[in-house]
Amino acid sequence: MERICSIIEAEAQRILPILYASNTIKWWLIMSKTIVKAFRFSFKPSKTQSVKLNDTLYLCQQLYNASLQERIDAYKINRISINCQAQQNQLPDIKTTNPEYKNIHSQVLQNVLKRVDLAFQAFFQRIKRKEKAGFPRFRSLNSYDSFTFPQSGFALTGNKLTLSTIGTVKLKLSRQIIGKVKTLTIKQECGKWFVIFTIETAVEPLPKTDKSVGIDAGIANFLTLSDGTIIENPRFAETLQKSLRVAQRSVSRKKKGGNNRKKAVLKLRKIHQKIKNCRADFQHKAARYLVNNYDVICIEKLKVSNMLKNHCLGRVISDVSWSSFFQVLSNKAVEAGRELIKVTPNFTSQTCSNCGYCEKANRKTQADFVCLKCHFSINADENAAINILGLGKNLLGSKWNNSSCLPKESLTITASV
Ligand SMILES: [Zn+2]
Repeated sequence: MERICSIIEAEAQRILPILYASNTIKWWLIMSKTIVKAFRFSFKPSKTQSVKLNDTLYLCQQLYNASLQERIDAYKINRISINCQAQQNQLPDIKTTNPEYKNIHSQVLQNVLKRVDLAFQAFFQRIKRKEKAGFPRFRSLNSYDSFTFPQSGFALTGNKLTLSTIGTVKLKLSRQIIGKVKTLTIKQECGKWFVIFTIETAVEPLPKTDKSVGIDAGIANFLTLSDGTIIENPRFAETLQKSLRVAQRSVSRKKKGGNNRKKAVLKLRKIHQKIKNCRADFQHKAARYLVNNYDVICIEKLKVSNMLKNHCLGRVISDVSWSSFFQVLSNKAVEAGRELIKVTPNFTSQTCSNCGYCEKANRKTQADFVCLKCHFSINADENAAINILGLGKNLLGSKWNNSSCLPKESLTITASV
């Protein structure tokens, strides 16, 4: 047996470098990776189901706050930290004293306590990183808008979803669910109900394009690519700003606690929701374009929190929401087996992409770059994008084909809701 093992080992040592050199292993490693994806669908519950869903949300919110309170009290009075397991062990007793909790699936309740635990874990992580800590907060009914079945308590047959203790609802399946369902979350947004499946699925690499790209995230344009392509800024909030202002004014004029105020708040939340949906749609389309067209994508490490301190640009930056876009791009890149490289963008806007001369005065205006040494003239954002691509190349340390062969174009991605 030992001998067989040593033969296999020797053979593996001989073959592995060959396979690795021919990229077979790299390909296999990508293929064998699994990723977690979210699928979201809307549904219309019946009146009875709607009452049950709202009751579940209310009871989960109460449990969340009670659990948070217990942890705070235990620490204040006894200097004891209560962990998640200890709180979950109390659930049977809670059900005895509060029989209404018997109508909720036990795993949903366990997940509520898990959420409190995660909030504390995130809090301690922030302290460790010496960031602004932000102690876990009590949640209002408005902010507590979802509950999760972590493993069981639901069954999907065709477009019919059966939820334990709630009933069967019909989903508007806008796309096919491929993969293994891990968790299911029910969410309420502006009076509408959604179901979110998280699915574990295998990575499906896209065919190679042999192209790579550097990306500069700017204010004038959303993205400028190193091949000159421009993805224009969507600025949804700009166009929806007027209705947002009217709605905000309307809320502030209404009497607190009144029915009219409730209606006005709902209207305001719907506008915010529309902006959020438009933004998500735009981000997915822009990320899809990049991932479909380039094997290697180099982006800059942005410190958005610092940029937001600059108030005049702050609104525009939060408008285009870089960090969430880069997250979407990163997820899509992993899913498609693409490489996403983050580089430190020091001096990328001041350095000449033609000769490498670095000087602040090279950048004549926000838009124009003219090198003082070699007189190379180019759009300032495109120059930065080429530099980012160069830095990415250095990081990867390999040769690749230059992507500057594409025709220069201006790409307009329109968002639909
Ligand atoms: Zn130059």
